[in-house]
Amino acid sequence: MAQQLIQPVNDMTVTASYRWGGAYRARFGSDHYGQDVVGSTTVYAQGSGRVLFAGCDRVCGYVVGILYDEVQNHFDGGSYPVVGRYFHLAGAQVQPGQRVDKDTVIGIMGDIGALTTGRHLHIELDRDTAYPAYTPTLTGDSNILKAGLRGAKDTTLDPMRLTHCKTSGPDNQRCAVGDGIAWVDPRDGAIPRIR
Ligand SMILES: [Zn+2]
Repeated sequence: MAQQLIQPVNDMTVTASYRWGGAYRARFGSDHYGQDVVGSTTVYAQGSGRVLFAGCDRVCGYVVGILYDEVQNHFDGGSYPVVGRYFHLAGAQVQPGQRVDKDTVIGIMGDIGALTTGRHLHIELDRDTAYPAYTPTLTGDSNILKAGLRGAKDTTLDPMRLTHCKTSGPDNQRCAVGDGIAWVDPRDGAIPRIR
């Protein structure tokens, strides 16, 4: 049975949505292929999977990539394996090959990397599991992350469609939407609650 991914941060406020609006593009010059969040700073794996890469990337700070076993998309009812990429961590607390689950701490939210704008976590979820380190966010290859394959169709997904808010303990998750920020989709306040 497909798993339900939960939030990587228990107390989470969304500050930038996936591919939302021209305001983000106007400020940063490109679409946003992930979701930015702030809140509690401990970052967990979102479900059960295996670490594919972990280390310090020149552009995005400490990054971790995880291949999640089949996950449920609550938006369209689909299920498939998904790669999760997490940027701007202050360090990586997992190693390639390691099995993880929702209770595994992968790092602490940081403020490092050329593309950071203050302490936050950038979450990318991608259906293309064959090229897990390729991200449309980069326009040139870095040491860990690679620029999205030229001419390839974008395979990232809106993290909101694959994420659930687990309200019961020990996670006791909460999700809110940042106030007065132009690049947040208001629907991001309504991620499905599970117990
Ligand atoms: Zn981001």
